[in-house]
Amino acid sequence: MKLLDGKEVSAKIKQDIKEEAAAFTAEFGRRPHLVAILVGNDGGSETYVASKMRNCELVGFESTNIRYESDITEDALIAKIQEINKDETIDGLIVQLPLPKHIDPEKITEAIDYRKDVDGFHPINLGRMQRNLPCFIPATPYGILLMLEHYGIDTSGKKAVVVGRSNIVGSPMSILLARNTNPGNCTVTLTHSRTANLKEEVLAGDIVVAAIGKKNFVTADMVKDGAIVIDVGINREDSTETKSGFKLYGDVDFEEVSKKASWITPVPGGVGLMTIVGLLKNTLQAAKAEVYPR
Ligand code: NDP
Repeated sequence: MKLLDGKEVSAKIKQDIKEEAAAFTAEFGRRPHLVAILVGNDGGSETYVASKMRNCELVGFESTNIRYESDITEDALIAKIQEINKDETIDGLIVQLPLPKHIDPEKITEAIDYRKDVDGFHPINLGRMQRNLPCFIPATPYGILLMLEHYGIDTSGKKAVVVGRSNIVGSPMSILLARNTNPGNCTVTLTHSRTANLKEEVLAGDIVVAAIGKKNFVTADMVKDGAIVIDVGINREDSTETKSGFKLYGDVDFEEVSKKASWITPVPGGVGLMTIVGLLKNTLQAAKAEVYPR
């Protein structure tokens, strides 16, 4: 078994981004700028946004975190998004999900200018991704592609099984792995909670991407010998063993599955770190107007 080491890959790519950001700043007299809007006090969201902001600063980007109480109206949030859309000193905008129930995430996603949509959730970016056109790719699947690329893993002709069909991970991952590019060229099965014979489906996978949100859901009896296993899951459990007061678990039973896999991502230290890299790369591309030339 070999480790798909998010720590190693993300450190290397972040160094490259840092150099490109410095060149951008020298040329344009300002830093690439990411704004993150956080609504409410969800513990997981707070951790993710703090980490995104910290990483922006580490690579030399400007970062702004705008916080609202959970009772902000949908209209007020959209008004702020429209203001940011017009602000030429801001390159990327993300609104951290989940949002409170009274706010429709679809409306919020569509309110963001697709040219600043560095999360890649806007339907224009998703449509362009499916068509293999320049676009912002959702950060988590993008990070996974960068990781496969880094390790020179040839995915062509392989059978990939994605477990979970969310708009932000499973669904875009399945599209990307099926595209006529490298990494890609897989024969893809997208599975979910209504899939019949899930175990059989996953067992057929040369590549398994687990994005379910249930601790240790993928067990060794579900994985074929030699499979490449990508664990997207981040499941937090309270713990007295750690300083933070919680411990993270993936969707894959790492201890047992790693005995069968050819490559596997750990949690923590795998896909989570690559997601940040995906977001940073998108933000840099937005600043440089590489995806949508101005
Ligand atoms: P969602 O809850 O949006 O989607 C979960 C998916 O899993 C759904 O498609 C659901 O099916 C499917 N599912 C649930 N139960 C089963 C089951 N018993 N059998 C088969 N499929 C099932 O989750 P996300 O995609 O947003 O996130 C998934 C996990 O990844 C979470 O742990 C999340 O924290 C983590 N995550 C990690 C990131 C990272 O950077 N590493 C980034 C984003 C998420 P159905 O559609 O039928 O309900």
